[in-house]
Amino acid sequence: MAENKRDYYEVLGISKGASDEEIKKAYKKLARKYHPDMNPGDKTAEEKFKEVNEANEVLSDPDKKARYDQFGFAGVDPSYGGGGGGFGGGFGGFDFGDIGDIFGSFFGGGFGGGRSNPNAPQRGENLRLSTTVSFEEAAFGCEKEIAVERVEQCSECHGSGCANGTTPEVCSDCRGSGMIRQQRQTPLGVMATSSPCPKCGGKGRIIHQPCQTCRGSGMERRRRTMKVRIPAGIDHGQTISLRGQGNSGKNNGTPGDLLIVVSIRPHEIFRREGTSVICEAPITFTQAVLGAELEIPTIDGKVKYSIPEGTQSGTTFRLKGKGIPSVNGRGRGDQFVTVNIETPRNLTREQKDALRKFSETLGESNYDEQKSFFKKFKK
Ligand SMILES: [Zn+2]
Ligand SMILES: [Zn+2]
Repeated sequence: MAENKRDYYEVLGISKGASDEEIKKAYKKLARKYHPDMNPGDKTAEEKFKEVNEANEVLSDPDKKARYDQFGFAGVDPSYGGGGGGFGGGFGGFDFGDIGDIFGSFFGGGFGGGRSNPNAPQRGENLRLSTTVSFEEAAFGCEKEIAVERVEQCSECHGSGCANGTTPEVCSDCRGSGMIRQQRQTPLGVMATSSPCPKCGGKGRIIHQPCQTCRGSGMERRRRTMKVRIPAGIDHGQTISLRGQGNSGKNNGTPGDLLIVVSIRPHEIFRREGTSVICEAPITFTQAVLGAELEIPTIDGKVKYSIPEGTQSGTTFRLKGKGIPSVNGRGRGDQFVTVNIETPRNLTREQKDALRKFSETLGESNYDEQKSFFKKFKK
């Protein structure tokens, strides 16, 4: 396509090893010479002016210049080889995606044709599901059965889309690439465009007898149930990803992942913060005053815990190692128990009298906090 194009160095009248300074000088001189203002109505001068500008655009840019020096016009003209059609058949295990990537990075994106090729392997979509587990299941891990509806390669034709015993015909128009390349002569040179092949609809192959199961698509929708391991210590809203268990990819592309978002059902008495288990326990006035051995519920079952004499309402105790196991397997959190005194209700007259009598025996020395509170208040 470049047969009518002059070498950029030739256009500027310089040698291949010319310095930046020489390139700049040559361009300035020629741009002035062929500038449309200096040559009104002169078509040849206009063409030359364009040619000079194009040459300068490439040679003044170190990046483009290097590519031009190495690959000629193919290194700098985006119309070269675009669309991926130039890379031969998509059949026989030719990996278009990778070819496109190699050339894409090589030429700064000019050759990104692989991506748009309909025959390139395409990764399957990720699928997202949610599952709900109990507080304890999240803490200790469990196995859940999960139903997923996903797109899989057709089990009948193994993805070919053809009825049993038949094979697809490679499209003669595009020779299996699925893309047709067209070249057009324009005032700026030859332009190449690629578009999907109309004969095969961009598929590169023609199926004469489609598979009954998938009607020629090569894919079918299937419902699968699978067992998923929920790791111990997983937290609310965290995701488990099962690689390759999502939708199948097109053209033998890798399958997507199955992402399972875990929700934890709230617990009646426990709350969770990271690996800490938090709960509140009601105690009696007498237990608080005299001290007591309490039975505290934990995720491992009840444990005994002694509170000392004179425990204040709202005091928090720590049960070491009774929290949630860390999801990465390193240790366990703690449980925090806040005790609250439950004030007794519905006392009889006798009970109230007994309590009053008892209360009269108490003095300032029994109430440290009240004493200091009112002292501060007086100041
Ligand atoms: Zn099929
Ligand atoms: Zn075709």
